[in-house]
Amino acid sequence: MSIVTNKELLTRAKAGHYAVPAFNTNNLEYTQAILRAADELNSPVIIEAAKSEIDYMDGHVFVAMVKAMTEKLSIPVGIHLDHGPSYEEVIRCINYGFKSVMYDGSSFPLEKNIAVTKEVVAAAHAAGISVEGEIGVIGQAADSPEGKKNDMIGLADPAECERYVKESGVDCFAAAIGNAHGIYTRKPELRFDLLAEIEKRTGVPLVLHGGTGIPEDDLRKAITMGVSKINFSTVMRKGCIETLVETLNKNPGDWDLMKMLNPSWNKMKEIAKQHIVMCMSDHKV
Ligand SMILES: [Zn+2]
Repeated sequence: MSIVTNKELLTRAKAGHYAVPAFNTNNLEYTQAILRAADELNSPVIIEAAKSEIDYMDGHVFVAMVKAMTEKLSIPVGIHLDHGPSYEEVIRCINYGFKSVMYDGSSFPLEKNIAVTKEVVAAAHAAGISVEGEIGVIGQAADSPEGKKNDMIGLADPAECERYVKESGVDCFAAAIGNAHGIYTRKPELRFDLLAEIEKRTGVPLVLHGGTGIPEDDLRKAITMGVSKINFSTVMRKGCIETLVETLNKNPGDWDLMKMLNPSWNKMKEIAKQHIVMCMSDHKV
């Protein structure tokens, strides 16, 4: 179908009680795997890239590639900047043709986060692009010391979320509720009490980062409570590299690059399909 804003995708998802899966990407076949999975399951999907991934691919090439790949598909697709670190980076991506941007000012004090998010919202909305923000610090699970509860994140405060949404005008935001990026070193415990309070106070679609490794039941519960976009990255890269190692070990001295890489892309497509089903976004187009 076409490239659409995350606002459009998430509004529909919230009303339909599912979440739109958002997969990071960093090359052509990775993107193809995601789009083929979504197309086969008739699911809306968000293709996203963080600054390092955009620099790796070149932003112009990335946007042109996703647009070309979606031309003949009948599913709606988002092109989103993940964890935009600054106003300048957001503007750069708007100029590349992204349809949605995230500004992550969560490491700043609330006042500064609100002030910059507000500027980002003004620029993005003027260009017809939606904005995702972040409150609380969603850290790296792999870096967390073991044993302490919630040691890997700074949990979002519902009152701060309410103020942030009201004053900045963001279309959706990621709140730290016990989730983290990377591989969880122990079972993540999502704070559903916080999630309920945040949803009640803000009313906008919520985004869950660090989807890799969150049990399916918890993901589904979060969706019924207002989570409308879930980010997956590590699980895809892990599947790709593990499969690549396996293929190389099985075929020493074989320099057929496509033959060596294809099992990895097929694995990624399979993983993407599993996560689309977890998000309950299959057959929603
Ligand atoms: Zn994230």
